[in-house]
Amino acid sequence: MSEQSHPEIREAVRKLCAGFPGEYWRALDRDRTYPTEFVRTLTEAGFLSVLIPEAYGGSGLGLSAATAVLEEIHRSGCNGGACHAQMYTMGTVLKHGSAAQKERYLPKIATGEIRLQAFGVTEPTAGTDTTRISTFAKRVGDKYVVNGQKIWISRAEHSDLMVLLCRTTPREDAARPADGMSVLLVDMREAVGNGLTIRPIRTMLNHATTELFFDNLEVPVENLVGEEGKGFRYILDGMNAERILIASECIGDGRFFIDRSSAYAKDRSVFGRAIGENQGVQFPIARNYVQLSAAALAVDHAAALFEAGKPCGTEANMAKMLASEASWAAADTCIQTHGGFGFAEEYDIERKFRETRLYQVAPISTNLILSHVGTHVLGMPKSF
Ligand SMILES: Cc1cc2nc3c(=O)[nH]c(=O)nc-3n(C[C@H](O)[C@H](O)[C@H](O)COP(=O)(O)OP(=O)(O)OC[C@H]3O[C@@H](n4cnc5c(N)ncnc54)[C@H](O)[C@@H]3O)c2cc1C
Repeated sequence: MSEQSHPEIREAVRKLCAGFPGEYWRALDRDRTYPTEFVRTLTEAGFLSVLIPEAYGGSGLGLSAATAVLEEIHRSGCNGGACHAQMYTMGTVLKHGSAAQKERYLPKIATGEIRLQAFGVTEPTAGTDTTRISTFAKRVGDKYVVNGQKIWISRAEHSDLMVLLCRTTPREDAARPADGMSVLLVDMREAVGNGLTIRPIRTMLNHATTELFFDNLEVPVENLVGEEGKGFRYILDGMNAERILIASECIGDGRFFIDRSSAYAKDRSVFGRAIGENQGVQFPIARNYVQLSAAALAVDHAAALFEAGKPCGTEANMAKMLASEASWAAADTCIQTHGGFGFAEEYDIERKFRETRLYQVAPISTNLILSHVGTHVLGMPKSF
């Protein structure tokens, strides 16, 4: 997002984040613990409900407001990964849920009483080929009985509800591979220990991600979102918002790195002059700024299309790719500019370096974006 948009939101988020300095994140990172206090403070300040309509207790703002929130969180050295999904996962219920589901859940999601920030799609054997998921929900009377496995499901231990994508018709019996999948709202408070087991996965960053095992988990039929068999389309809708918001986190990360690099390059003196006087140090930082500014425009553009209700799949993908590559390039420069200090935990650069690397893989990897552009936009043959 352009640095000028939503100035009041940005200012308020910056103030809030100032209460959560590097030491806070470093301690959590060391122990891989969840930033409960940070998430509580953001929730109470209303920043996680900006996309929920006012009728349900949110601020009813557009996606660009949410990008401003996440960008500032990341620029401040904080990490929105612990809670960004509370902002947009509810979009599946808002767009495709029944009136009863919206009444029941959205007001409580807006206050934070209910956390809906787990999104269960990825499976170990299907990978990116989502139509090959095999977690199956079999209708038995007024319940679905779910069996299967998911991997990389973030925040599952810190969520009261989960949007779960599963098959309700085997792939081979569906008219098209993308048919026959459905979305269920799983109440984690009831499910854990009653058919759902959560196993945390320790990763190179503090992301509260997990593996899920379903063993005859019963989900009431009333928790089906929209129509049975059409879940894949509902999930794709939500993915555009997710990609744009993650892209804004990358923009924030990139600004964090460029802020740090340029400040250090002005301040650090070696051979009797500021290292930033050397163009070998200065130009990579300037290049990062140019690349990040272009990526920020792409994020703005995708968010504007989304807000206008226009198709934005390609633009969301392109924005995510450009932003994640720009933040990664800025991260690399930042380490180099800081020399040895880039590796010292207390500078927070190595932590942010690890954190921003994720976004070239998740929520969608760069190759799959290039494949989308190559085949859907440019009409070249598909390789798979
Ligand atoms: C920390 C973390 C948090 C996550 N959180 C969630 C979550 O909350 N919910 C959720 O559902 N998922 C989540 N994910 C999963 C994430 O979305 C996937 O890891 C990502 O989409 C890549 O899928 P994969 O890991 O199965 O890779 P694979 O599909 O196995 O691909 C591996 C590599 O091969 C490349 N590749 C595969 N096929 C092709 C092809 N045809 N052409 C060219 N290249 C190809 C990919 O680009 C990738 O680089 C998370 C992942 C991580 C690491």
